[in-house]
Parts: sequence; structure tokens; C-alpha cells
Amino acid sequence: MDNCKGNHCIQCTVDKCKNHCQTSDYCSLDKVSIGTHESDPKVCQCVDCESFVAKS
Ligand code: SF4
Repeated sequence: MDNCKGNHCIQCTVDKCKNHCQTSDYCSLDKVSIGTHESDPKVCQCVDCESFVAKS
């Protein structure tokens, strides 16, 4: 049974993240932090979810 309450305001396909609802493409958190590792971001690949937690 899936007990994960996906936040439908945060769609996400990163199923390697501990916060991902595995049976649907949503994040389980109430809010996430988004940032960048670039000094001058130009494309979406420059942007990161800083709430990502690797599955152990
Ligand atoms: S924390 Fe970020 S990467 Fe992880 S499921 Fe939520 S939105 Fe996706």
C-alpha cells in the first residue's frame, strides 16, 4: 500500500530521492528548496533541488 502523500504542487521524477513518492511522480515534502551551482545559470540543467536526499 502506498502511504506517500504526494504534494501535487511539486511534480518530480527523481525517484532516486528519498523524498520522492515512489508510485507517483510527486515530492512528499510540503516545500522544497531550489538553487543553482552556477554563477550565471542559463539552462534548467544549471538548477538543482537542494532538498534532494539520496536513498541509502
Ligand atoms: S526533494 Fe527534490 S528531488 Fe527529492 S523528490 Fe522532492 S522535489 Fe524531487
